[in-house]
Amino acid sequence: MSSSPTDILIHTCCSPCLVYPADILKKEGFKITAYWYNPNIHGPREYEKRKMALGYYLNRDKDIDYIADIYNIKDWCAGLDSYNMPERCMGCYKVRLKKTAETALKNNIGIFTTTLLYSKFQKHDIIKDLGQEIADETGIKFYYKDFRKGWKEGINMSKDMELYRQEYCGCIFSAKDRYNVS
Ligand code: SF4
Repeated sequence: MSSSPTDILIHTCCSPCLVYPADILKKEGFKITAYWYNPNIHGPREYEKRKMALGYYLNRDKDIDYIADIYNIKDWCAGLDSYNMPERCMGCYKVRLKKTAETALKNNIGIFTTTLLYSKFQKHDIIKDLGQEIADETGIKFYYKDFRKGWKEGINMSKDMELYRQEYCGCIFSAKDRYNVS
């Protein structure tokens, strides 16, 4: 008798960052649900572009379930204790990961993780520690893996699929830095 797959909720920052982790998680036998909750993204147009790209990818991969949450900018702003780094990113991660764990709980999914663990541009160790901290608080398990090992592979896969690739991390501060506006 084959065992049923274990459910996992993966907070998804964007579609290019989901491709590689989803591939790994499937190979490990997980049943994946992608969770869209990114109120950090500056500008409704940019927000929609990223969300639509995820929809496009998920349409190609019917094995992945999907939960989309709202564009709750006020919650994101309230979660920031500082606009300086690295505190700003810490607050930003915390808002999104906490909501992911709560959503997992609500949907009877026992494990959560995040595509943020795939990006070479994120503060990996902070995300790892926060995920564990939230797991301890909520009783939901945090799945940790260094998905950065598949950085190149994921980029190639997402380019083959012609997924939209954003130019800045998400918030207005990251957009300002990206375009070098002073
Ligand atoms: S740079 Fe990225 S992770 Fe840091 S606060 Fe902005 S959107 Fe969040």
